[in-house]
Amino acid sequence: MTASTSPSYIGRFAPTPSGYLHFGSLVAALASYLDARAVGGRWLVRMEDLDPPREEPGAQAAILKALECYGFEWDGDMVRQSERHTAYAEVLNRLFNQGLAYACTCSRKQLEPYHGIYPGLCRNLGHAREHAAIRLRVPELEYRFTDQVQGEYRQHLGRDVGDFVIQRRDGLYAYQLAVVLDDAWQGITDIVRGSDLLDSTPRQLYLQELLGLPQPRYLHVPLITQPDGHKLGKSYRSPPLSEDQAPPLLLRALRALGQTAPSELADASVAEIMRWGTAHWDASLIPRTLSVPEAQLS
Ligand code: GLU
Ligand code: ZN
Repeated sequence: MTASTSPSYIGRFAPTPSGYLHFGSLVAALASYLDARAVGGRWLVRMEDLDPPREEPGAQAAILKALECYGFEWDGDMVRQSERHTAYAEVLNRLFNQGLAYACTCSRKQLEPYHGIYPGLCRNLGHAREHAAIRLRVPELEYRFTDQVQGEYRQHLGRDVGDFVIQRRDGLYAYQLAVVLDDAWQGITDIVRGSDLLDSTPRQLYLQELLGLPQPRYLHVPLITQPDGHKLGKSYRSPPLSEDQAPPLLLRALRALGQTAPSELADASVAEIMRWGTAHWDASLIPRTLSVPEAQLS
């Protein structure tokens, strides 16, 4: 653990244990780690285990083992979202009782024609909470923020998203709610993650505003894509990070982030690569794109 921590920077890596870490998650983890350590900041790991049915058995342990093997050192104890249900329930009840959220009984089939933008069908029907999803009312407003890599991003919550789910019909809490509550609770100042979450950010900004929580800084790194343009991930069978490939894969992840390590590092250890990365981290070199094809990095 680092001795020189600065409360003015607290970052985090928040993996979902629905699969193992792959090269794309390594790039995101490395960016958040180096961005924190380069300024002497703290770096936390939070397991986003909100969805037990979709959890891959053994994934939590494998993720932590991979992080250790790749030279990541986190501050304090890892937090699991499965241990935070009381906090989520409290906020959810408050939002519901204040009429800021409401019960929705629409079926998936019913919502099919609306292409993911909820048309507000249950908004004023006053359904009971039992066996219903809970949706948060969104304002007819545009939310915008300046991302440190992707630049200005704006989204009209009413038009482009609609009232969104904060608790699923099966009782599971939604990512959008949990992530906002936990980032605030852990005092996260800087959110560094993959660009697939760029379009979730305006929903998170709205929740922060509604709950009076501070707004962190955002940095969304490019997704690593396969030749067919798909994001790397479990669904596209990208291999889990192998342990004996840690140094070359770290160097490759640095390259994906625009950080060019000197050729002397080719045979370096994980610790040496991490030290170099921390000392030379320059976020302004990260490619200002939503994705980087993996093939470009070899
Ligand atoms: N748990 C999310 C994921 O694995 C990341 C959440 C976040 O960084 O905000 O995609
Ligand atoms: Zn509905």
